[in-house]
Amino acid sequence: MSTFVHPFREGSKDQKDLLGGKGANLAEMTRLGLPVPPGFTITTDACRYVMHHGQNPPELADQVTAALEDVAQQIGRRFGDREDPLLVSVRSGAAISMPGMMETVLNVGLNDETVQGLAAQSGSERFAQDSYRRLLQMYGATVLGIEASTFEESLEAVREERGAADDAGLDAGALEEIVGRYKQIIERENGSPFPQDPREQLRGSISAVFESWNAPRAVIYRNAEHIDHELGTAVNVVAMVFGNLDERSATGVAFTRDPSTGEHGIYGDFLVGAQGEDVVAGIRNTRSLEELGEVLPDAYQELLRTMDVLEEHYRDLCDIEFTIESGKLWMLQTRVGKRTAAAAFLIATTLVDEGAIDEREALTRVSGAQLTRLMFPRFASGEREVLARGMGASPGAAVGEVVFDSETVIARAQEGHECLLVRRETNPDDLGGMLAAEGVLTSRGGKTSHAAVVARGLGKTCVCGAESLDVDPKAREIRMNGEVVAREGDVLSIDGATGEVFAGRIPVEPSEVAQYLEGDLAADDPRASALVRSVDRLMGVADEVRRMQVRANADTAADAQRARQMGAQGIGLARTEHIFLGERRAQVEKLILAGDPAEREEALAELLPAQRADFAGLLRAMGDLPVTIRLLDPPLHEFLPDLTDLSVRIARAEEAGRRIEPHERKVLAAVERLHEQNPMLGLRGVRLGLTIPGLFGMQVRAILEAELEVRADGGDPHVEIMIPLVGSVRELRAIRHEIDDVTEEVTAGAGDGAELTTRIGTMIELPRAALRAGEIAEAAEFFSFGTNDLTQTTWGFSRDDVEAGFFFTYKERGILSDSPFESLDQYGVGELLRIAAERGRATNPDLTLGVCGEHGGDPASIHFFHSLGLDYVSCSPFRVPVARLECGRATL
Ligand code: PEP
Ligand code: MG
Repeated sequence: MSTFVHPFREGSKDQKDLLGGKGANLAEMTRLGLPVPPGFTITTDACRYVMHHGQNPPELADQVTAALEDVAQQIGRRFGDREDPLLVSVRSGAAISMPGMMETVLNVGLNDETVQGLAAQSGSERFAQDSYRRLLQMYGATVLGIEASTFEESLEAVREERGAADDAGLDAGALEEIVGRYKQIIERENGSPFPQDPREQLRGSISAVFESWNAPRAVIYRNAEHIDHELGTAVNVVAMVFGNLDERSATGVAFTRDPSTGEHGIYGDFLVGAQGEDVVAGIRNTRSLEELGEVLPDAYQELLRTMDVLEEHYRDLCDIEFTIESGKLWMLQTRVGKRTAAAAFLIATTLVDEGAIDEREALTRVSGAQLTRLMFPRFASGEREVLARGMGASPGAAVGEVVFDSETVIARAQEGHECLLVRRETNPDDLGGMLAAEGVLTSRGGKTSHAAVVARGLGKTCVCGAESLDVDPKAREIRMNGEVVAREGDVLSIDGATGEVFAGRIPVEPSEVAQYLEGDLAADDPRASALVRSVDRLMGVADEVRRMQVRANADTAADAQRARQMGAQGIGLARTEHIFLGERRAQVEKLILAGDPAEREEALAELLPAQRADFAGLLRAMGDLPVTIRLLDPPLHEFLPDLTDLSVRIARAEEAGRRIEPHERKVLAAVERLHEQNPMLGLRGVRLGLTIPGLFGMQVRAILEAELEVRADGGDPHVEIMIPLVGSVRELRAIRHEIDDVTEEVTAGAGDGAELTTRIGTMIELPRAALRAGEIAEAAEFFSFGTNDLTQTTWGFSRDDVEAGFFFTYKERGILSDSPFESLDQYGVGELLRIAAERGRATNPDLTLGVCGEHGGDPASIHFFHSLGLDYVSCSPFRVPVARLECGRATL
């Protein structure tokens, strides 16, 4: 019989996959002797069983009963007992945290009888009725699927009838009346009454949590965060403790360090007389944790001690949910806390300084995605008027049009508008809008509100609790002191670090970290912040431990220069077609239109000096670092006008009786001749070199002459010539012959002592090339995987169309969670890489292996390339720092 239920005292923090993050950490805290209410976890195995079989595992019911019995023993109360009932919470908890995405039901076990027992035991009829109405509300909405607003409206109505300003103003009688109304709502909407049997309540709540794994918002969240849909959630059943019992009761959340800066300090929010959800829901404005010391000093001291124990144990920033019941502290949750990107770097190096972790471990605590965030621009400094101030909940500079609901944000973002989602507070259904918005602004809720927590997790700029703003979604306007300050569609700017809100569009400038990475700010410059010093330190560690080199894809001397400043150790791909564009287009057109060899040679001769100058510039910019220059790759029609446009133009001209110039006719004929149904599978790459005499020869000559020129000036260039789109070794051999001939001519022409050290290699970007890599390696000194084309040709997905096309449906249907053009498909395309690397190295042990497709800058792909033993990755200059960091992390 499988075990689907684990009591807290049996698990550990290392069992997240099975127990979920919450369950594993509750178990860990129990083992550490911290005050955790007794409870148990139903494993993710059970959730997966339900997903696959559509019903609970048969043994689950008995196991839950036994575990509940065990909880009852520990706490001395029985489930369903009329005198002194045990109540439980039922909470979701997946292996990877999905804040606010799934369901929770509190106070399970209350019914018309046990509510009396609870009143007697607690000495508070009001408290018992309040707990019961919360159960009815949560059970009704979560388990029975009744619209949450139905309950809210009913509550509101009673509040109005009784003249109560808020829930606290409702007495026991009023709450009892609400209980009655809620029961009627449930019976009416559900067709049967609220289940009085606590066991049925428990069963229903557990099933609802399992089902919430596949709720639309949870699916959206997992797609956004690239979380596997198969993982499933665990369910935690925990004895209730009550933060709403009396005025010596409270509930709150805390961090062991400031999650924005990593600094030690007291950081968190709490509410007196409230239950857990009230704090994160952002509905009531919370109090700062420091005040807890005055309100409940003993519990506060114990909380501080507990936080020290947790930091010491996890050696990291932890976040905590706690409840104080009549002065006694209970821990309801902890986990290694979500943090901003800046805090991740600061905390990692602070922990090294404190001796808690070593530098290598510190490197594992940060990521390339976080570094990318730190490179985002910030608002330019300058005097400006602040419209309002909230809390800086998730840093960044966001500018966008004010929009009051998520659906509109999504629709407008799809039309290309940049929007800010502006809400009083967000709720889990706002996820889609938060993802589509540039930033999120709320007028209520603290740094631990839903908006803040989710935005931080997503790396989305967020200002929350800007209380002076009166957000009115019905009127679609924001007012301050009764005056309209922004209507829907008006532009606002929000600073997620300072919490400032500005009217209009504020200009942005490079972030400090970007300035540092681009070489414009030294880490030891007195102006550099602690963050820059942390980044510098961890980049140093990454550079020290990494095995793979990082090169850049750069086509011009200016790009090459920038890449070098960012730490590129060479150029892995210079696309020569980019040098063919602009004013050179005319010369390329001449080449394409050439009617005979003489005309063609003339055109090539005109292109030669321009190409040579470009290459010399690139080589000079890179000094003695390798520079891989790829011969012309794209189909030639890309240099000519579009067939349809041109045909229409000529037809119109003819119709108007205008004379058509012979040149125009020639161009049209060439365009028609070169037109292909599938140009990406047509005349391009090595095929161009083999069919247009002299084209590759001219490019090779330009490269070699540039090499000699730079060497003659005292430089030490390392040139690599790369042939694209090779599928057969015969193609490569034919081109190599041409290269050899040109090399001989160039060397002979240069006179004595002229020496060329050029290496010749090929791209592997067709499945056939990968499979035949063994023989191709006989004719190549290096391979560079063109993973863009290799993905296109392996999947048969058009790289130019697919991301705007059916990928959306594929993602929605869970067929793909990531675009294989962004993150390498390690199973399919990756298998071809593995084969090519093995076969290539088997025939040529000195073969250099690199990647120059977009995946060269993608963190997950980089880890895979490391595991294949590749020598380098090459990516756009801007991603070089991220690649350096991830190449380092890949070795740990
Ligand atoms: C590739 O195909 O991965 C590649 C780098 O070449 P391009 O993107 O220029 O086709
Ligand atoms: Mg390619």
